[in-house]
Amino acid sequence: MRIPFIAANFKMFKTIGETAAYIRELRGLIRGVTDAEIVVAPPFPALQAAADAASDSRIGIAAQDLHWEREGAFTGEVSAGMIKDTGAGYVIIGHSERRRLFGDTGETVRKKLLAALAADLTAIVCIGETLEERDADRTTAVLARQLDEALTSLTPAQISALVIAYEPVWAIGTGRNATPQQAGDAHAYIRGWLRDRFTPESADQCHILYGGSVKPENIRELMALPDVDGALVGGASLKAQSFFEIIAGCR
Ligand code: PEP
Repeated sequence: MRIPFIAANFKMFKTIGETAAYIRELRGLIRGVTDAEIVVAPPFPALQAAADAASDSRIGIAAQDLHWEREGAFTGEVSAGMIKDTGAGYVIIGHSERRRLFGDTGETVRKKLLAALAADLTAIVCIGETLEERDADRTTAVLARQLDEALTSLTPAQISALVIAYEPVWAIGTGRNATPQQAGDAHAYIRGWLRDRFTPESADQCHILYGGSVKPENIRELMALPDVDGALVGGASLKAQSFFEIIAGCR
């Protein structure tokens, strides 16, 4: 049984102090929540403070990226082991902003994913098409390519524990979200792809999140879709109250 999975992506917002205060507020708000996996992804400097503030709660902490090497002369990079050492248990990989602005490719996404799994971090792998690709009727071809590039050497057991975020690039930070039909079709396609490539059991256990301008007002209609297991939320996660309302709408 997949319980709802809701992740907040702070992107490059919030200091250490602001992140810790947010986690303390969220802890209070979610006191009655027992049936959802809740994850917060602050910037790297705030990871340890976030993990400390979240200890003994049901809030997990995620990094927003990682480098695949264990250590070395890679100025500005952070390894999976370093993330794990902060107390974080999750990492976002292949976010479209990383792919578009910082050169992530299918190959680097795959290497990052393998490094995350080797360090026992739960990976949230982002995939999704651009508007140009959707308009050219290439959405499923793009999703298949991104899934193939990222997941090719994984085992069914690793697929069971994986989180995939379907994030149409044109819906991220634009206020424009996919229609329930568009989201439902993409999620069903991803689940079917996993079923064909791995096993029906692992495909059924893998969490598939929707991301792209999710808000308290639209989460319920997205969660009503059979293959939508939760959400990856950017802008609307920056206030704890708003993120809590999305969590409430996921259940
Ligand atoms: C994201 O950052 O993954 C995201 C979906 O952002 P937003 O909710 O702001 O569209």
